[in-house]
Amino acid sequence: MTQNLLHQTSCPLIPRAPLREHTWLGVGGPADFLAQPQNQEQLLSLLNALEPSTPLHIIGAGSNLLVRDGDVKGVVLSLKGSWNYTRIDPLNPHILEVGAATTDMNTARAARNAGLSGLEFMIGIPGTIGGAIRMNAGCFKGETSQCLLDVSTLSRDGTFHTLYPDQLQFAYRQSQIPHDHIILKARFSLQHDDPELIQERMKVISKERQKNQPQAVKTSGSTFKNPTSSHLRAWQLIEGVGGRERSYGNAQFSHLHCNFLINNGNASAHELEHLALSVQKDVLNTSGIALEWEVIRWGLSQEETSQ
Ligand SMILES: Cc1cc2nc3c(=O)[nH]c(=O)nc-3n(C[C@H](O)[C@H](O)[C@H](O)COP(=O)(O)OP(=O)(O)OC[C@H]3O[C@@H](n4cnc5c(N)ncnc54)[C@H](O)[C@@H]3O)c2cc1C
Repeated sequence: MTQNLLHQTSCPLIPRAPLREHTWLGVGGPADFLAQPQNQEQLLSLLNALEPSTPLHIIGAGSNLLVRDGDVKGVVLSLKGSWNYTRIDPLNPHILEVGAATTDMNTARAARNAGLSGLEFMIGIPGTIGGAIRMNAGCFKGETSQCLLDVSTLSRDGTFHTLYPDQLQFAYRQSQIPHDHIILKARFSLQHDDPELIQERMKVISKERQKNQPQAVKTSGSTFKNPTSSHLRAWQLIEGVGGRERSYGNAQFSHLHCNFLINNGNASAHELEHLALSVQKDVLNTSGIALEWEVIRWGLSQEETSQ
């Protein structure tokens, strides 16, 4: 990865940026470069300077990532600045436009303030709109794709696109946003409702989450997806192999919600991944069900980096 990149773009770049500072799990080795464009001009300048072979990863709030302890090759792109906003369409007051860097929580609040219903479930999800669309994030029967009107993206070759839900094959915690597309903004078509009723529904969701999910811990939420081939949920399968009591180094599964992997101090990504893989293997051996990762894993291990 050439250091020349620093001189070829107006985009702010941090070399050897430790990604543990940018993930909810608090783990992750250094990215060759962390790119933090503040506006479209800087983003286009970055894309223009990138060699086609340089890997480009996009990070939102880092709430669904397990980044390994070794190097992350290439550029990790973090959108902030110009992409952190919400706006009601002046011509269609039931349409909310949201920049990709806006948090899900602020999106839910903006919809409520405008008396628009449909995004209440987002009040408890700690990611950004970019991550919510990529993951089709959801809870309490709500899913990001449900009220989505369209998504604006920029592909690596510098072309702007508008993508519609029927092109994106949304399914449980997945979408088919092309991998070289950067999500810039999304528009949601919502229903008018009384802000107080919307607030009440958000309160119920927040209370439920506080009761059933660990709070103020380093986690990445659900580690594995609920299997479609079984009536059992991922946490039940994990519990069935004693996962609730398991730990490895400073990694453990939450006692409160045993599909939540937790960094209980200074766990390494290796400890967290090792624990999850051992539970995944035991579930397969005892039930025949292959749990699929919901958390996305990036980067090289320490050993791979030093080879
Ligand atoms: C405490 C806790 C509770 C959670 N509860 C839920 C829940 O109830 N429901 C749920 O669905 N998830 C939940 N999650 C998981 C996580 O919050 C969601 O998956 C969220 O949508 C991830 O968003 P993010 O911005 O953090 O994305 P990241 O974790 O940073 O990235 C996730 C993926 O999105 C891609 N991405 C991010 N931004 C962009 C962009 N602008 N353009 C293109 N790709 C992008 C990344 O490349 C990566 O592939 C929880 C996590 C935690 C820590």
